[in-house]
Amino acid sequence: MVGNATATKRASLHTLGCRLNQSETLHIRHQLEAKGYNIVPFGEPADLAIINTCTVTNLADAKCRQSIRSFTRKNPHAFTAVVGCYSQSGASTIAEIPGVDLIIGNQEKLSVLDYIGQEKNKKPVIIRERINKDDFSIHFVGDVPFDKRANLKVQDGCDFMCSFCIIPFVRGRSRTREMDNLLNEARALVKRGVRELVLTGVNIGTYLSSKSEDILAVIDNLNDIIGLDRIRISSIEPTTIPESLFDRMIDSDHALLPFLHIPLQSGCDRILDEMRRKYTISEYLNFIYRAHEAVPDLYLGTDIMVGFPGESLDEFDETCRVFLENPFDFCHVFPYSERDGTLAARREDQIPQKERARRSAHLRRLASSKRYDHYADYLGKTMPVLFEDPKGDTWPGYTDNYIRVVIKAAQATNQYLANRMGSVRLNAISADFVAGELLEILD
Ligand code: SF4
Repeated sequence: MVGNATATKRASLHTLGCRLNQSETLHIRHQLEAKGYNIVPFGEPADLAIINTCTVTNLADAKCRQSIRSFTRKNPHAFTAVVGCYSQSGASTIAEIPGVDLIIGNQEKLSVLDYIGQEKNKKPVIIRERINKDDFSIHFVGDVPFDKRANLKVQDGCDFMCSFCIIPFVRGRSRTREMDNLLNEARALVKRGVRELVLTGVNIGTYLSSKSEDILAVIDNLNDIIGLDRIRISSIEPTTIPESLFDRMIDSDHALLPFLHIPLQSGCDRILDEMRRKYTISEYLNFIYRAHEAVPDLYLGTDIMVGFPGESLDEFDETCRVFLENPFDFCHVFPYSERDGTLAARREDQIPQKERARRSAHLRRLASSKRYDHYADYLGKTMPVLFEDPKGDTWPGYTDNYIRVVIKAAQATNQYLANRMGSVRLNAISADFVAGELLEILD
């Protein structure tokens, strides 16, 4: 039981969904560590579990329920807290799962520890506050060394109201994290050893502080932090990207990486309009060509949704054509999923699930072939790689333009490479990575 203060308290955390959730889970983890909990991998016996959920699709909901059930079955005496987006939208369904003690929506999720009791609750306590519209700050803690790239939350919520999307309902309207607060956390992370920060949020291009500072100001302020080598922007909406980012990406003295992930969603104007996206295909394509011209080594990834209501076969083929014939390096494919409360869910021309799955599988094959082409463009070249934790007898890492590189551990001659930069020659494509040869350790 969680209140057993003399024994080591074991807590386990589980994150479903996006990078933003990962960054929030990390905050919760640091709070637990500061309170003396021993963090154990999810799946191992624990006294406390905090499961940070996602509700972006029906499948995401189902995966959340499965994770909760699998934990409570194996740990019937543990205190089980379920937080996040699915807690915001599906609290009553989660409350039916035996063993759940606490369900907290997005507004209060980072304060989850304040609600954890000494004993299991007789029935789940549900806390689902209205989501605040104001700028926010995050109380962060933690001083243990941290040798990974870290997500830095800079923004939350979205005002765009795309017709398929549940996110504005569960995460609320767009809100900006106060500049000083996010910079203080960034400095603390760099002091702990972090060399790469990934800026996260729901719609980070809409960042606008009360002092009228935008996402460029965030990036430039982060760039002034000594010891921070890499700044990567996670997903950013097409109409919100200042083109002056390109100068920073090609400036070797600036930490901003040549990386953009810009959701396209569909390659067909009629569908984009029905999705209530804010651009046409030609506007989108003009932008990415300008980006490529300005930043020659740019990695460009995207998200594409298939099987939106009424999407004809020709329209799907058009999306595939747009993806194949333009300078995309990869795409994440999302089969459309009806979300209660959204405009698109009310439509009668829903595409059968089987057909959505077929279209997804087809587009995923194209995505793999585009990634192969991206990797092939760099074979034989030597690039800096920031290494991550070892996997088996290999060291994986990423180039600045997001090529996943793996070297054999033997090449490192017993040196610990995690969080170190190496110069690597890219030799051969193998499944979803490039096998490389370490030429020298840079720092
Ligand atoms: S931009 Fe559209 S898809 Fe993205 S979070 Fe906002 S509403 Fe959802």
